[in-house]
Amino acid sequence: MDMTTTDTHCPYCSLQCGMRLRTADTGAAPVEVLERPEFPVNLGALCGKGRTAAAVLRPAVRLTEPLVRDVRGGELRPASWDEALDRTVAGMSAARERYGRDAVGVFGGGGLTNEKAYLLGKFARVALRTASVDYNGRFCMSSAAAAHRRAFGIDRGLPFPMADISRTGCVILVGSNPAETMPPALRYFRELRENGGRLIVVDPRRTRTAELADLHLQPLPGGDLALALGLLHLVVADGHLDEDFIARRTTGFEAARAAAMAHWPERVERLTGVPAATLAAAVEMFTSAPEGMVLTARGPEQHSKGTDTVGAWINLCLATGRAGRPLSGYGCLTGQGNGQGGREHGQKADQLPGYRSIEDPAARAHVAAVWGVDPACLPGPGRSAYELLDALGRADGVRALLVMGSNPVVSAPRAAHVTERLRALDFLVVADPVLSETARLADVVLPSAQWAEETGTLTNLEGRVLLRRRAVDAPPGVRDDLAVLSGLAGRLGVPKGFPADPEEVFEELRRASAGGPADYAGISYARIGAEDGVFWPCPDEAHPGTPRMFLDRFATPDGRARFAAVSHRPAAEEPDAEFPLFLTTGRVVGQYQSGAQTRRVEELNRAAPGPFVELHPALAGRLGVAEGQLLAVSSRRGRAVAPARVTDAIRPDTVFMPFHWGGEGRANSVTNPALDPVSGMPEFKVCAVRVERAAAE
Ligand code: SF4
Repeated sequence: MDMTTTDTHCPYCSLQCGMRLRTADTGAAPVEVLERPEFPVNLGALCGKGRTAAAVLRPAVRLTEPLVRDVRGGELRPASWDEALDRTVAGMSAARERYGRDAVGVFGGGGLTNEKAYLLGKFARVALRTASVDYNGRFCMSSAAAAHRRAFGIDRGLPFPMADISRTGCVILVGSNPAETMPPALRYFRELRENGGRLIVVDPRRTRTAELADLHLQPLPGGDLALALGLLHLVVADGHLDEDFIARRTTGFEAARAAAMAHWPERVERLTGVPAATLAAAVEMFTSAPEGMVLTARGPEQHSKGTDTVGAWINLCLATGRAGRPLSGYGCLTGQGNGQGGREHGQKADQLPGYRSIEDPAARAHVAAVWGVDPACLPGPGRSAYELLDALGRADGVRALLVMGSNPVVSAPRAAHVTERLRALDFLVVADPVLSETARLADVVLPSAQWAEETGTLTNLEGRVLLRRRAVDAPPGVRDDLAVLSGLAGRLGVPKGFPADPEEVFEELRRASAGGPADYAGISYARIGAEDGVFWPCPDEAHPGTPRMFLDRFATPDGRARFAAVSHRPAAEEPDAEFPLFLTTGRVVGQYQSGAQTRRVEELNRAAPGPFVELHPALAGRLGVAEGQLLAVSSRRGRAVAPARVTDAIRPDTVFMPFHWGGEGRANSVTNPALDPVSGMPEFKVCAVRVERAAAE
């Protein structure tokens, strides 16, 4: 059999590792994943998820034909595409006629390609004319994005390439565990230390990443804001301010300083459990290096004070002059595969393509002109993701919903409640490659093509726009999401403006983004192919792209970065007599997000077969629990049951659960949907729970 190879990227996380697919010339399987050493981010390295990514393409583990349900409570049955799309439009139209335009909603995903995210947002605003559109990236890093915009005037997760991490002097890595979430990235932290740099890790758990650190700060869940304020207090008190940088390139320092001075080390020790001496050691390590970075991930971000928490860490960078110059700065390590691009192109409730505000009249006029519609016809901002899900089926909420690229039954906070709300809808349609937990509730299920079966761009955590290329044919009966949107728009009476060809969509996206914060105008498929990725902003084809931002000025109107005057406040829910422990949640290396794809890969299931409850030996002793015994973790919202994993790597007052599974081990049955008022981020990372031996044992 003749074979061919295609250079492309992994379907999973935001590192978007380069890989090479070896396929039969016929366009059909088998597919073999090969290393692609020349791609600069991962240099050929792949984690187990990337190496096994071809397994999710097998017809046996996925949907290969549309499904419809004739009556509520009845079984899903196979249907033709015409029937499935006709029923979808009928369900949406009925809700719109009865309850108004905003009663039809769209819920997207941070793994969708830029083209899909763009066309989905346009579908909502132009074909449905609804304000009810948001996506699961709201649950991922929205608070970091909001803090980034507030401080720097623009939000690009990392304003520098990953490779800069190896060459800086000191990194404070806050609430991030790349050893589990993106193992090839660990190389940069190892190189940092080999080059003489220092690594400080902030995490309530002694993770595999924390074990590499020169210093590990192990605060209480929810303590990151107080911790950052305490470090800034010491920077001021010990004379480590970069007064020149503050004067030349920032505004708002005095208010931030005043807030930090109320967080003296002994108070911060009481609030976080981190000894004052450890705070001092961290400040000494960070400020004695010639350059430094603070990198955050979901740990400090997924809180009802997430934006302020990230703001406090940005303050630390600004006060020490570690921003806006080479090898220094603040960055967010995005999680989902297109976590960066997914938030730039219009599937967010408050944004239009190019990362423009939907409330900005100039932005509305620009995008409306590209779309050929009257700006007055564009809806305004809608509800954020959890608010949208919470409003499903309600009189003034959404009555018909399209879900594309998301599995909120597993991934949303207070998931049992969200499941009830999904059941309360008049009509639910889910486009997904697999019969996910959310798809199982749907009236219509549309089988989507997958990563290796379609072409599209993604923007990785560095702001590098990449091309994922089609390497194999999708099984018969499966359609690309762009074709689905095109088919639905046509049936809704909007036949123009919804092409199914990804390059055609990208060409329009370039025009829509032109002049906006996330400017892709100079980026083309041909250029990405020739350069193996282009960094935005890139305003024209002669522009080299922007690997490093803010070196001359920040993207604020006056060019200065803005301090945020923020103060400690407790988590929305703290332990009490009834629920005496903290729960924090996160990921394990063998699974990805809601697990909808990776739980269908045998090798990954062997490595990470199911949920667990991580707890300290002292707590296990108090509960009389041994390794592997079933535990029930209960909060005011629900209960999850999973076996105990006993380790002294976690604080005695805290338990940890990974969130990749549904069923009785679903961690998000327990989590708290308290929202950050700025970003709409729910408080996944901390809530109060009770832990006891499960009755089922
Ligand atoms: Fe894929 Fe992320 Fe693993 Fe790289 S680190 S192979 S992008 S899952």
